[in-house]
Amino acid sequence: MQGYELIQPRRVLGVQPWGPSAFVMRFERRGLRFRAGTHVDVGLPGGLTRPYSLFSGEQDEIAEILVRLVPGGAVSSRLARLKEGDLVLVKPPRGGFTLRHREQKDRLVLVATGTGIAPFRSFVRTVPELPYLLVHGVRSLDEDFGADFEANQERVLCLSSAEGRQPVATEKFSKHCRIVPGRVTQWLDQAELHIDRDRFYLCGNSAMLREATEILARRGVPLERIHRENSAT
Ligand SMILES: Cc1cc2nc3c(=O)[nH]c(=O)nc-3n(C[C@H](O)[C@H](O)[C@H](O)COP(=O)(O)OP(=O)(O)OC[C@H]3O[C@@H](n4cnc5c(N)ncnc54)[C@H](O)[C@@H]3O)c2cc1C
Repeated sequence: MQGYELIQPRRVLGVQPWGPSAFVMRFERRGLRFRAGTHVDVGLPGGLTRPYSLFSGEQDEIAEILVRLVPGGAVSSRLARLKEGDLVLVKPPRGGFTLRHREQKDRLVLVATGTGIAPFRSFVRTVPELPYLLVHGVRSLDEDFGADFEANQERVLCLSSAEGRQPVATEKFSKHCRIVPGRVTQWLDQAELHIDRDRFYLCGNSAMLREATEILARRGVPLERIHRENSAT
Protein backbone atom coordinates (compact mmCIF):
# COMPACT_ATOMS: atom_id res chain seq x y z
CA MET A 1 0.00 0.00 0.00
CA GLN A 2 2.81 2.37 0.92
CA GLY A 3 4.63 1.58 -2.38
CA TYR A 4 1.42 2.40 -4.26
CA GLU A 5 1.14 5.73 -2.43
CA LEU A 6 4.74 6.52 -3.34
CA ILE A 7 4.19 6.31 -7.09
CA GLN A 8 0.86 8.13 -7.19
CA PRO A 9 0.98 11.10 -9.58
CA ARG A 10 2.02 14.39 -8.03
CA ARG A 11 0.81 17.85 -8.90
CA VAL A 12 3.12 20.14 -10.86
CA LEU A 13 3.63 23.47 -9.10
CA GLY A 14 5.31 25.23 -11.99
CA VAL A 15 7.66 24.91 -14.96
CA GLN A 16 10.14 27.77 -15.17
CA PRO A 17 12.39 28.12 -18.24
CA TRP A 18 16.09 28.65 -17.48
CA GLY A 19 17.71 29.99 -20.64
CA PRO A 20 16.69 28.69 -24.06
CA SER A 21 17.27 24.99 -23.42
CA ALA A 22 16.51 24.11 -19.81
CA PHE A 23 13.77 24.47 -17.22
CA VAL A 24 13.11 23.86 -13.55
CA MET A 25 10.04 21.77 -12.80
CA ARG A 26 8.57 22.11 -9.30
CA PHE A 27 6.18 19.53 -7.92
CA GLU A 28 4.57 18.67 -4.62
CA ARG A 29 6.51 16.38 -2.29
CA ARG A 30 3.54 14.74 -0.59
CA GLY A 31 5.75 12.54 1.61
CA LEU A 32 8.59 12.19 -0.90
CA ARG A 33 11.68 11.67 1.27
CA PHE A 34 15.07 11.65 -0.36
CA ARG A 35 18.77 12.10 0.29
CA ALA A 36 20.57 14.92 -1.48
CA GLY A 37 22.26 13.58 -4.61
CA THR A 38 19.69 10.92 -5.43
CA HIS A 39 17.44 10.91 -8.49
CA VAL A 40 13.81 10.13 -9.27
CA ASP A 41 12.27 8.65 -12.41
CA VAL A 42 9.81 11.20 -13.77
CA GLY A 43 7.32 11.12 -16.63
CA LEU A 44 3.74 11.62 -17.64
CA PRO A 45 1.27 9.24 -15.96
CA GLY A 46 1.07 6.07 -18.03
CA GLY A 47 4.08 7.04 -20.16
CA LEU A 48 7.85 6.63 -20.22
CA THR A 49 9.96 7.90 -17.35
CA ARG A 50 13.56 9.11 -17.20
CA PRO A 51 15.88 9.65 -14.23
CA TYR A 52 16.36 13.25 -13.01
CA SER A 53 18.50 14.32 -10.05
CA LEU A 54 16.69 16.23 -7.35
CA PHE A 55 17.66 19.90 -7.56
CA SER A 56 16.02 20.90 -4.27
CA GLY A 57 17.27 20.23 -0.74
CA GLU A 58 16.20 17.55 1.71
CA GLN A 59 14.28 20.02 3.89
CA ASP A 60 12.69 22.09 1.10
CA GLU A 61 8.91 22.14 1.16
CA ILE A 62 8.59 21.41 -2.55
CA ALA A 63 10.64 19.20 -4.88
CA GLU A 64 12.48 20.49 -7.95
CA ILE A 65 14.32 19.00 -10.91
CA LEU A 66 16.44 20.84 -13.49
CA VAL A 67 15.85 19.48 -16.99
CA ARG A 68 17.68 20.06 -20.24
CA LEU A 69 15.20 20.20 -23.08
CA VAL A 70 16.36 17.60 -25.61
CA PRO A 71 14.72 18.45 -28.97
CA GLY A 72 12.44 15.53 -29.83
CA GLY A 73 13.26 13.88 -26.49
CA ALA A 74 10.48 11.50 -25.47
CA VAL A 75 10.26 12.74 -21.87
CA SER A 76 12.02 16.11 -21.51
CA SER A 77 9.99 17.70 -24.34
CA ARG A 78 6.74 16.55 -22.71
CA LEU A 79 7.75 17.75 -19.23
CA ALA A 80 8.58 21.16 -20.74
CA ARG A 81 4.95 21.58 -21.83
CA LEU A 82 3.43 20.85 -18.41
CA LYS A 83 1.53 23.58 -16.58
CA GLU A 84 0.84 24.23 -12.93
CA GLY A 85 -1.81 21.76 -11.74
CA ASP A 86 -0.94 19.02 -14.27
CA LEU A 87 -0.03 15.59 -12.94
CA VAL A 88 3.37 13.98 -13.19
CA LEU A 89 4.54 10.52 -12.23
CA VAL A 90 7.47 10.50 -9.79
CA LYS A 91 8.94 7.18 -8.74
CA PRO A 92 10.76 6.67 -5.42
CA PRO A 93 14.28 8.16 -5.17
CA ARG A 94 17.30 5.99 -5.88
CA GLY A 95 21.05 6.20 -6.42
CA GLY A 96 24.15 6.24 -4.31
CA PHE A 97 25.65 9.62 -5.25
CA THR A 98 25.00 11.07 -1.82
CA LEU A 99 26.94 13.39 0.40
CA ARG A 100 29.41 11.34 2.40
CA HIS A 101 31.62 12.55 5.21
CA ARG A 102 29.39 15.60 5.79
CA GLU A 103 30.75 15.91 9.29
CA GLN A 104 34.38 16.21 8.13
CA LYS A 105 36.07 19.46 7.27
CA ASP A 106 37.25 18.33 3.83
CA ARG A 107 36.76 20.86 1.08
CA LEU A 108 34.40 19.39 -1.50
CA VAL A 109 35.28 20.14 -5.10
CA LEU A 110 31.97 19.78 -6.92
CA VAL A 111 32.60 19.37 -10.65
CA ALA A 112 29.62 19.35 -13.03
CA THR A 113 28.80 19.88 -16.66
CA GLY A 114 25.40 21.30 -17.67
CA THR A 115 22.47 19.98 -15.65
CA GLY A 116 24.92 17.69 -13.83
CA ILE A 117 24.97 20.51 -11.29
CA ALA A 118 21.55 19.41 -9.95
CA PRO A 119 22.75 17.03 -7.18
CA PHE A 120 25.22 19.67 -5.99
CA ARG A 121 22.46 22.24 -5.52
CA SER A 122 20.66 19.64 -3.46
CA PHE A 123 23.86 19.12 -1.39
CA VAL A 124 24.35 22.80 -0.64
CA ARG A 125 20.69 23.50 0.10
CA THR A 126 20.69 20.54 2.48
CA VAL A 127 23.96 21.43 4.25
CA PRO A 128 24.39 25.21 3.82
CA GLU A 129 27.60 25.29 5.90
CA LEU A 130 29.33 22.83 3.53
CA PRO A 131 32.88 23.97 2.59
CA TYR A 132 32.94 23.63 -1.19
CA LEU A 133 34.26 24.89 -4.49
CA LEU A 134 31.84 24.57 -7.41
CA VAL A 135 33.36 24.03 -10.87
CA HIS A 136 30.65 24.17 -13.52
CA GLY A 137 31.18 23.60 -17.23
CA VAL A 138 28.69 25.31 -19.55
CA ARG A 139 28.44 26.03 -23.24
CA SER A 140 27.09 29.55 -22.69
CA LEU A 141 26.23 31.91 -19.85
CA ASP A 142 22.52 31.02 -20.30
CA GLU A 143 23.43 27.74 -18.60
CA ASP A 144 24.73 29.30 -15.40
CA PHE A 145 22.52 27.03 -13.27
CA GLY A 146 24.75 27.73 -10.27
CA ALA A 147 23.64 31.38 -10.17
CA ASP A 148 21.61 30.91 -6.98
CA PHE A 149 24.29 29.04 -5.03
CA GLU A 150 25.61 30.99 -2.02
CA ALA A 151 27.20 34.18 -3.37
CA ASN A 152 30.01 34.04 -0.80
CA GLN A 153 31.17 30.55 -1.82
CA GLU A 154 33.83 30.13 -4.45
CA ARG A 155 32.75 29.00 -7.88
CA VAL A 156 34.42 28.63 -11.24
CA LEU A 157 32.35 28.82 -14.41
CA CYS A 158 34.16 27.10 -17.30
CA LEU A 159 32.82 28.40 -20.61
CA SER A 160 33.59 25.98 -23.40
CA SER A 161 32.13 27.92 -26.37
CA ALA A 162 33.62 30.91 -28.18
CA GLU A 163 31.69 33.04 -25.66
CA GLY A 164 34.40 32.06 -23.16
CA ARG A 165 37.02 33.83 -25.26
CA GLN A 166 35.08 37.12 -25.34
CA PRO A 167 35.14 39.64 -22.52
CA VAL A 168 32.33 38.84 -20.04
CA ALA A 169 30.40 41.48 -18.06
CA THR A 170 31.67 40.11 -14.75
CA GLU A 171 29.85 42.76 -12.66
CA LYS A 172 26.74 40.56 -12.98
CA PHE A 173 28.56 37.87 -10.97
CA SER A 174 29.64 37.75 -7.33
CA LYS A 175 33.29 38.51 -6.65
CA HIS A 176 33.71 34.85 -5.67
CA CYS A 177 32.80 33.68 -9.19
CA ARG A 178 35.63 33.22 -11.68
CA ILE A 179 34.77 32.80 -15.36
CA VAL A 180 37.40 30.90 -17.30
CA PRO A 181 37.50 29.76 -20.93
CA GLY A 182 37.68 26.03 -21.63
CA ARG A 183 36.38 22.81 -20.18
CA VAL A 184 36.24 21.69 -16.56
CA THR A 185 38.92 19.09 -17.32
CA GLN A 186 41.33 21.80 -18.52
CA TRP A 187 40.69 23.66 -15.28
CA LEU A 188 41.29 20.52 -13.17
CA ASP A 189 44.55 19.89 -14.97
CA GLN A 190 46.02 23.21 -13.83
CA ALA A 191 44.12 24.18 -10.70
CA GLU A 192 45.71 24.50 -7.31
CA LEU A 193 44.31 21.52 -5.42
CA HIS A 194 44.78 20.31 -1.86
CA ILE A 195 45.32 16.70 -2.81
CA ASP A 196 45.25 15.42 0.76
CA ARG A 197 42.12 17.22 1.91
CA ASP A 198 39.97 17.87 -1.15
CA ARG A 199 37.19 15.39 -1.85
CA PHE A 200 35.94 15.38 -5.45
CA TYR A 201 32.37 14.87 -6.63
CA LEU A 202 31.97 14.65 -10.40
CA CYS A 203 28.64 14.68 -12.24
CA GLY A 204 28.21 14.78 -16.00
CA ASN A 205 28.65 12.66 -19.09
CA SER A 206 30.86 9.60 -19.24
CA ALA A 207 33.62 11.32 -21.27
CA MET A 208 33.99 14.07 -18.67
CA LEU A 209 33.96 11.56 -15.80
CA ARG A 210 36.63 9.44 -17.44
CA GLU A 211 38.90 12.34 -18.35
CA ALA A 212 38.50 14.12 -15.01
CA THR A 213 39.25 10.91 -13.10
CA GLU A 214 42.39 10.32 -15.18
CA ILE A 215 43.59 13.87 -14.52
CA LEU A 216 42.91 13.66 -10.78
CA ALA A 217 44.57 10.24 -10.50
CA ARG A 218 47.60 11.56 -12.40
CA ARG A 219 47.75 14.49 -9.99
CA GLY A 220 47.85 12.09 -7.06
CA VAL A 221 44.25 12.14 -5.80
CA PRO A 222 43.42 8.73 -4.28
CA LEU A 223 40.44 7.09 -6.03
CA GLU A 224 38.53 6.83 -2.74
CA ARG A 225 38.37 10.65 -2.69
CA ILE A 226 36.64 10.75 -6.11
CA HIS A 227 32.85 10.18 -6.25
CA ARG A 228 31.11 10.03 -9.61
CA GLU A 229 27.66 10.13 -11.17
CA ASN A 230 26.98 9.65 -14.87
CA SER A 231 23.97 11.85 -15.60
CA ALA A 232 24.42 11.44 -19.36
CA THR A 233 24.05 15.16 -20.04
C1 LIG B 1 21.33 9.20 -12.92
C2 LIG B 1 20.84 10.17 -13.99
C3 LIG B 1 20.48 11.45 -13.60
C4 LIG B 1 20.02 12.35 -14.57
N1 LIG B 1 19.70 13.63 -14.18
C5 LIG B 1 19.31 14.52 -15.11
C6 LIG B 1 18.99 15.87 -14.72
O1 LIG B 1 19.06 16.24 -13.52
N2 LIG B 1 18.60 16.73 -15.70
C7 LIG B 1 18.53 16.34 -17.03
O2 LIG B 1 18.16 17.18 -17.87
N3 LIG B 1 18.81 15.08 -17.41
C8 LIG B 1 19.18 14.17 -16.48
N4 LIG B 1 19.44 12.88 -16.88
C9 LIG B 1 19.21 12.51 -18.29
C10 LIG B 1 17.70 12.14 -18.48
O3 LIG B 1 17.40 10.97 -17.74
C11 LIG B 1 17.29 11.87 -19.93
O4 LIG B 1 18.22 11.00 -20.51
C12 LIG B 1 17.19 13.14 -20.79
O5 LIG B 1 16.24 14.03 -20.22
C13 LIG B 1 16.74 12.80 -22.23
O6 LIG B 1 15.51 12.08 -22.16
P1 LIG B 1 14.41 12.26 -23.31
O7 LIG B 1 13.41 11.19 -23.10
O8 LIG B 1 13.91 13.66 -23.35
O9 LIG B 1 15.23 12.01 -24.65
P2 LIG B 1 15.35 10.62 -25.44
O10 LIG B 1 14.06 10.36 -26.17
O11 LIG B 1 15.84 9.56 -24.51
O12 LIG B 1 16.51 10.97 -26.46
C14 LIG B 1 16.25 11.56 -27.74
C15 LIG B 1 17.56 11.74 -28.48
O13 LIG B 1 18.36 12.75 -27.82
C16 LIG B 1 19.63 12.23 -27.43
N5 LIG B 1 19.89 12.78 -26.10
C17 LIG B 1 19.49 12.26 -24.90
N6 LIG B 1 19.88 13.07 -23.89
C18 LIG B 1 20.51 14.12 -24.46
C19 LIG B 1 21.11 15.28 -23.95
N7 LIG B 1 21.14 15.55 -22.66
N8 LIG B 1 21.66 16.17 -24.83
C20 LIG B 1 21.62 15.91 -26.16
N9 LIG B 1 21.05 14.83 -26.72
C21 LIG B 1 20.52 13.94 -25.88
C22 LIG B 1 19.46 10.73 -27.42
O14 LIG B 1 20.70 10.09 -27.70
C23 LIG B 1 18.44 10.51 -28.51
O15 LIG B 1 19.06 10.50 -29.77
C24 LIG B 1 19.92 11.96 -15.93
C25 LIG B 1 20.28 10.66 -16.29
C26 LIG B 1 20.75 9.78 -15.34
C27 LIG B 1 21.16 8.39 -15.78
